[in-house]
Amino acid sequence: TPDVVTLGETMVLLRAPHIGPLRHARTLDVATGGAESNLAIGITRLGGRAAWIGRVGDDEFGRLVLAVLGGEGLDTRAAVIDPEAPTGLMVKARRTSAATDVRYYRAGSAGSRLCPDDVDPALVRSARILHVTGITPALSPTARAAVRAAVAEANAAGVPVSLDLNYRRALWSAEDAAGELRALAGHADILFATEDEARLVLKAPDHTPLVDLARELTALGPAQVLLKRGERGAVAILDGRPHEVPPHRVHAVDPVGAGDAFAAGYLAELVRGGPVATRLATAAAAGAFAVTVPGDWEGLPRRDELRLLAQDDAVIR
Ligand code: ATP
Repeated sequence: TPDVVTLGETMVLLRAPHIGPLRHARTLDVATGGAESNLAIGITRLGGRAAWIGRVGDDEFGRLVLAVLGGEGLDTRAAVIDPEAPTGLMVKARRTSAATDVRYYRAGSAGSRLCPDDVDPALVRSARILHVTGITPALSPTARAAVRAAVAEANAAGVPVSLDLNYRRALWSAEDAAGELRALAGHADILFATEDEARLVLKAPDHTPLVDLARELTALGPAQVLLKRGERGAVAILDGRPHEVPPHRVHAVDPVGAGDAFAAGYLAELVRGGPVATRLATAAAAGAFAVTVPGDWEGLPRRDELRLLAQDDAVIR
């Protein structure tokens, strides 16, 4: 039985190896990425079991996605190969050493055709945690229905729901996102968000203090709320108590994927019954590992690698 079941779209990632306008790239690196499968890989690297539900096209890119996810130890038995649509693409260019530009070619993709029938209720019921993101409901009406169905199944079975708000402005308007994400948050037990996402969902003014944002999110339902702040670390409210999660000092080369890593670290410890301090420390360490390596998930730590950052332990209060 899986510790974590998740559903979403995993795409092929085409990445310019050098800085500069994409049209001058002679070659592109081929990789894969998707917020939910990044998280699932993070769980398996830390010794947990994770299952991924999603669709890929009946094409070489789809076969690559399934090979990578299977190779990382995910349970992909519920994955669907969709002959009607291609695997989605994500293209990453770097215009300066600091500015990464991500573009999606996913409209009408196989992954966006996820639908409620793809969600095996027995698989969701067997999970210790169901993890969903705010990306999947933005992909299509059927994908949105799939997320709602999975969450309803988990709620009914008493399986805790973890939600990463993950607002993607390219996929839907702030207004549409705020409504759907707020509704999902009301059905979640664990909530991950950035400050901007918290403001979006709460329609809170810019000057609202961080801890107030976190408290207002817990008022929507989730007893565990974690607000991520990039290189500034994170704050959390867990069962009514505030916590500060200081960042590790690392040399960041690619910020994408830190949020997925952070959530993976937290959930991997939660399913092991880890105390709050351990959950937050592993979350911060996994986030730090993710930013030190190009690629969205390749740098995720194995359990025996966590100590490589241990000289800078997270302080918990
Ligand atoms: P993304 O959407 O790019 O995956 P995010 O915005 O959801 O990321 P971040 O706040 O960037 O999430 O990162 C999550 C966590 O990872 C942070 O709370 C922090 O603990 C850690 N982290 C991120 N960036 C850094 C950094 N530069 N140095 C150290 N730790 C970092």
